Amino acid sequence: MPRTLITGGAGFLGSHFCDFLLAKGHEVVCMDNLITGSLENIAHIKNNKFTFIKHNVTQHIKVDGPVDYVLHFASPASPIDYLVHPIPTLKVGSLGTHNTLGLAEAKRATYLIASTSEVYGDPLTHPQKEDYWGNVNPVGPRGVYDEAKRFSEAMAMAYHRAHGLDAKIVRIFNTYGPRMRLQDGRAIPNFIYQALMGEDLTIYGDGSQTRSFCYVSDLIEGIYRLLISGINEPVNIGNPKEMTIKEMAEKILHATKSKSKIIYTALPVDDPKIRQPDIALARKVLDWEPKVALDEGLQSTLDFFKTKVSTL
Ligand code: UDP
Repeated sequence: MPRTLITGGAGFLGSHFCDFLLAKGHEVVCMDNLITGSLENIAHIKNNKFTFIKHNVTQHIKVDGPVDYVLHFASPASPIDYLVHPIPTLKVGSLGTHNTLGLAEAKRATYLIASTSEVYGDPLTHPQKEDYWGNVNPVGPRGVYDEAKRFSEAMAMAYHRAHGLDAKIVRIFNTYGPRMRLQDGRAIPNFIYQALMGEDLTIYGDGSQTRSFCYVSDLIEGIYRLLISGINEPVNIGNPKEMTIKEMAEKILHATKSKSKIIYTALPVDDPKIRQPDIALARKVLDWEPKVALDEGLQSTLDFFKTKVSTL
């Protein structure tokens, strides 16, 4: 059975990937420096094929024994996190990417970088297709994340071209589900937390900006299909169902039956106005599309948040 290294394995997506691969029989080495990840996300794993290593992947990475897959998921991923940790964000997406690529090459492993829809920046085409090069402000506050991921993509392609490394690039669009932190800062966890606590829901700007939200299990399935495919070009994985942030806030108020009000605050700098993945490529080459309806996904996320809030 394959042996897989997941960096950022104690994070939201990384920990779901650990569960998924263990269920497929992989041996999993989970690496995380816990800057935004949490041991709570992997505490339930009782499997002798699972190991956790606390390590910052911007430093040299040592893993004994064979490794078949290297998945580089480590990075702060919420806009407030990368504003608080700008330099670690740049380092994990540059030095961390270089180190994980070097390890994959040494082990002759297949490599996958968790890239992002942020490589498209504030997009000038809609929906976003993989051949769009993006509209990113390199020196704005979000540039630390966007440019690190763009560098990661360039580096992964260079290893593929120069060394023949089997490198995959997934561009992940907005994703939600259980294990997002209560104070994660992204729209869905913020709104659910605020609604459950009876606090005002904070819409940034007028709420007309759009996003397209994918449930975590759909996303993991799509990424796994890419991992085992023969594809070495970037592939969008996300849910094309687009909505405004105001619609999402209202949906969450309704689902939680909360009496909270909506308040409007300043829009963060460079906040993309629209975002929707074009998933024609994933449909064609991975035979993948999302299956979980928004109401269903929100309900399981809400159940998770209710349990968390009850322990506060
Ligand atoms: N947003 C908001 N209120 C919040 C958190 C986020 O209005 O409490 C907005 C944010 O400005 C953005 C959208 O919701 O337009 C999605 O933000 P998120 O942080 O979830 O992710 P992004 O897609 O910007 O990376």
